[in-house]
Amino acid sequence: MAFAFHILGTSSSGNCSILESGGTRIMLDAGFQGPRLEASLAKLGLACAAVDAVLITHEHSDHCIGLAALLRQNPALKVFANRETARRIQGALKLKPDWQLFETGTTFEFRGLQITSIPIPHDAADPVGYAVDCPAEDGHHARRVTWLTDLGHATDVVRHHCALADILVLEANYDDEMLDLSKRPLHLKQRIRGNHGHLSNHAARDLLLGLREWQTSELFLGHLSKECNRTILVDEVMNAVRQHKSDLRVTVVDPLEDNPVSTW
Ligand SMILES: [Zn+2]
Ligand SMILES: [Zn+2]
Repeated sequence: MAFAFHILGTSSSGNCSILESGGTRIMLDAGFQGPRLEASLAKLGLACAAVDAVLITHEHSDHCIGLAALLRQNPALKVFANRETARRIQGALKLKPDWQLFETGTTFEFRGLQITSIPIPHDAADPVGYAVDCPAEDGHHARRVTWLTDLGHATDVVRHHCALADILVLEANYDDEMLDLSKRPLHLKQRIRGNHGHLSNHAARDLLLGLREWQTSELFLGHLSKECNRTILVDEVMNAVRQHKSDLRVTVVDPLEDNPVSTW
């Protein structure tokens, strides 16, 4: 199985991707209902049983709602999460997954992949992002894929991991003006904007512009809000990042798109 990274979808209504490397296939978040999850996997020619493990970032439904369906089809699935996230998710699950618990901030190994959990500031029990180190394969150097969504602000740890990623998925959740003008209640707007909410387009841009040594070759902007953002707005804001780092490939993942976005 050669290296491939497929984003099945990333937006405020669901997040899930598949990473294949060296004979191992892992899922990052399982935030789509069963039928949508299965349909997306089918587009890649995959069934739920073809997934070796899933890494869960936090207990919000847009990151784990598909876990039950996935486990019904694939009871042997290994489910990685920290203790507090696992506890919250287990409370709402009938099946008991083969939990693989880790301490936030540690690096662990799964079938040749080195996986680092990255603490992120967000209003969940113990939310994390992930950096997955994939070994070198024919004609390719080793590559690091980093998955960072749902963060209220950029911490030093987050910046460090953005700079080290070869392929980076970073949240660009909302446009300030669209959020202001939206009909959302004030408390929700404050939650989204808060230190433990989500990154705005400008905040994501500023994070990236602030990186000094930066080895990323491919950047995906994800977790866009369907109500408070547009791909064209993210694209416009990211022009400054393109100018800052001209060898960077930038893709804004459309929250309305059902087809996987892939890179090899
Ligand atoms: Zn969340
Ligand atoms: Zn989310």
